[in-house]
Amino acid sequence: MAECKECRFFFGVPENADDFKPGKGDCVTEIRNEKGKSWLSKPVFEDSESCGTFVKKV
Ligand code: SF4
Repeated sequence: MAECKECRFFFGVPENADDFKPGKGDCVTEIRNEKGKSWLSKPVFEDSESCGTFVKKV
């Protein structure tokens, strides 16, 4: 099973950030609807199991 760290929507939290924890990151995905485009960010860990939105990093 793939993990979030392999996903193109995973962004690691930098070590100097207030909310830094080892392995912690943000899942940032684009939402498109009739109002336009926006971004949804939620905290995830690099070893979290991937979800249905997973796209492998290139
Ligand atoms: S929660 Fe899903 S979309 Fe977000 S980083 Fe993990 S696998 Fe990717």
